[in-house]
Amino acid sequence: MNFEAAVDVHSHVYPERYVSLLRARDAVPRIVTRDGQDRMLILPGEDADTSTSAGRPIGSEYWDGGRKRAFMDRHGIAVSVISPANPWLDFLPSGEAGPAATAINEDIETLCAESAGRLYGLGLLPVCDPSAAAAELQRIAQLPHLRGAVIGTTGAGRGLDDPMLDPIWAAAERSGLMIFVHPHYGLGNEALAGYGHALPLALGFPFETTAAIARLVLGGTFDRFPGLRLMVAHAGGVLPYLAARLDACVAGDAHSPVRLQHLPSTYLRQMYFDAIGYQAPTLALLISLVGADRIMFGTDHPFFPPHVSNAELGTTAWHSPMAHRAVLHDLGPQTEAAILRGNAMTIFGIALPG
Ligand code: URA
Ligand code: ZN
Repeated sequence: MNFEAAVDVHSHVYPERYVSLLRARDAVPRIVTRDGQDRMLILPGEDADTSTSAGRPIGSEYWDGGRKRAFMDRHGIAVSVISPANPWLDFLPSGEAGPAATAINEDIETLCAESAGRLYGLGLLPVCDPSAAAAELQRIAQLPHLRGAVIGTTGAGRGLDDPMLDPIWAAAERSGLMIFVHPHYGLGNEALAGYGHALPLALGFPFETTAAIARLVLGGTFDRFPGLRLMVAHAGGVLPYLAARLDACVAGDAHSPVRLQHLPSTYLRQMYFDAIGYQAPTLALLISLVGADRIMFGTDHPFFPPHVSNAELGTTAWHSPMAHRAVLHDLGPQTEAAILRGNAMTIFGIALPG
C-alpha cells in the first residue's frame, strides 16, 4: 500500500539495558517467563495475575531498532521520535536512577545514530532527584538525536505541580527541549477493574493525564516557565473536552487558591499534543482549542499489537497506525499533512531522510 510519509512522535522503546533491570526484579514492574513466553508486568496490580496471560507478551519489537524500522516501513512512517515508556525509572532509588538514566539515554542516542535518519529520541530522567534530572536534561541537549525527555504524570511522586520539579522545568525551558508527559498509574482504577486492560487503558490513562496537566496548569507552571515546551499524550486525555468546565469551576470557587495570569484553558494553547484520539471529532475539538499546528501523529508502537504470533507481527498490518491515519484523512488534506509530518518536522527540528 502507498502511504503519505508520516512522522510518529509517540513510539516507544525499552532499551535492552532497561529490559535487564525489569528481568532482575521480583515485583511489578518486572518481566517474567511463563510457558516459554516473556511477559512484561508493569501496570499496578498486574503482579496479582499468576496466569500465562498476565501483562503483555514482550519480544525484540520492544528494543530492536531494525524491527522498529520494519514496522515503520510497513506503515509509511518515515521518521519516529522514540521514547522510553512507562514506568521509566520510577522504581529505582534516587542514587541508582541518575546513572541508569545517563546510560539508557546513551543507548537511545546510539539506536538513533545507527538508523540512517529514521529515528530521533526522547530520553528519560531521574525525576526523583530533580537537580540530577535537570543536569541530565543538559546532557541530553548535547546528544545529536535526542530532542527532549519523557516524564510520568506523578513527577517525583507528588504530581506535576510539585514545586520541587521547578529545576526540571527551568532546565527544559533553558534548553528548548520537549518534555513528553505520559501516563502510567491510571486514575480511578478501583472503578475500572473487571474488564482486562480495556478500562484502565481507555479511561484510567487519559484521566490520569488530564488530572496531571490540570494540576500543572493550576499550580502556575506556565506562568513561571512560559517558554516550557510540553507534549501531552493521547490527545490531552479528556482535558480538551473539559477545558471550559475547568475554567468555570476555578472561577466559581470563592475560596480558590489559584492565582493565574490567564484562564486555565488558555494554557492548553502553549502545549503540544499527539493525535492519538481515535476519532475525527476528538481531533476537531483539540484543533479548535489549540490550533492544528500543535498536534502530531503518533502510534504508541509497540503497544496495542495485533493478536498474532510474535513471528507474524512483522507481516501483519497493525490497527493503531491505520486508525490514526484514517482520522487525519477525515480532517482534509492540509491539516492531514501538517499533523502527519509537517508539524513534527518543525517542532522537533527533523528532516525526512532522502
Ligand atoms: N500501555 C502501556 O503500558 N503504555 C503505553 O504507552 C501504552 C499502553
Ligand atoms: Zn505511550
